[in-house]
Amino acid sequence: MSDELTLMIPGPTGLPDEVREALGKPQIGHRTPEYSELMLDVTAGMKHVFQTENDLLILTSSGTGGLEAAIVNFLSPGDAVLAIAVGNFGERIGKIAEIYGAEVTWVKSEWGQPADLASAKKALAEKQFKAVLFTQNETSTSVTNPVAELAALATEAGALTIVDAVSGMGAIEVRTDEWGLDVVVAGSQKALMLPPGLAFVSVSDRAWAAAETSTMPKFYFDLAKAKGSLAKGQTPYTPNTSLIVALQAALKLIRSEGIENVWKRHAACAERVREGVQALGLKLFNDPEYSSNVVTAFCPPEGVDEAEIRTHIQQEYGILVTGAQGAFKGQFLRIGHLGTVDDAQVDRVLSALEDALKTVAPTN
Ligand SMILES: *Cc1c(COP(=O)(O)O)cnc(C)c1O
Repeated sequence: MSDELTLMIPGPTGLPDEVREALGKPQIGHRTPEYSELMLDVTAGMKHVFQTENDLLILTSSGTGGLEAAIVNFLSPGDAVLAIAVGNFGERIGKIAEIYGAEVTWVKSEWGQPADLASAKKALAEKQFKAVLFTQNETSTSVTNPVAELAALATEAGALTIVDAVSGMGAIEVRTDEWGLDVVVAGSQKALMLPPGLAFVSVSDRAWAAAETSTMPKFYFDLAKAKGSLAKGQTPYTPNTSLIVALQAALKLIRSEGIENVWKRHAACAERVREGVQALGLKLFNDPEYSSNVVTAFCPPEGVDEAEIRTHIQQEYGILVTGAQGAFKGQFLRIGHLGTVDDAQVDRVLSALEDALKTVAPTN
């Protein structure tokens, strides 16, 4: 076994050879025609991944920077915002809005459950909100929300939809324009087969109209400035040029497979993981009707320390899986299956899991 770990966590993920090669290329100047051409090409490629004709800005930051940009550019202190949270990341985007002075109303679901459409509808009927915030794919609980339905409710109520699609973009179907999503955020290290360090934000015309009156403070994440620079294939500040070069390589792979085939591959691999885990007698943590296609959360056998399972899988098989976050720490495991995932990789982690169960829970 090589000493390189296979990452089966919900980001960062393993990199395809083409992306690694691109990362090793000589540096290029970012104020050059060569760079401008590259920037415009990758922006068009990402619009295809987002399924949008809206503007799309590429930021040098982790996904959370993209979330911050999605708040501070379209809202003002005192704005009423509805945050629909089903886990850790749904809470994060609402907290960002609170920190910048928005008046946040929360609709929370129990961990493992999707957004409750009836509660969202009720909240939207009681008050006029400027925006509705929610996650597409809640990585902390392995739940994919009913995005199109949530967006329809928000739009119907005259609110902007601001969606954290950081972990699902490029793996789970998103139709930004068809579903009327105003602001959508993605990140490089999840399904897009890149290292961490880039965030992507798409912006609808409705959202740009809101940006004109937004008074929340912003400097680095000023998207109007980014849009101005992008017209010339540029960015306001020095971009992570290596990652932009690598993004072009990743997009080439996505384009040759076809985005819909990429979604299908993730769905098939996820199904294989869920079936495999349950065949080992383990229970899924989340509501199975809303299972995520990028990460699977499942409970360890009664009385078994989930950390021991993970340690065995890492030490004996060189595969990194992860546990739960926040209040659920220690209660379930999570296997990431996104990016370059295929059946063979899924089978490797399942047989590692089977062996771990025999070793750490010999009575099972
Ligand atoms: C990973 C992730 C983020 C962003 O995390 P960063 O560490 O800032 O890249 C945001 N939302 C979701 C749903 C995620 O999975």
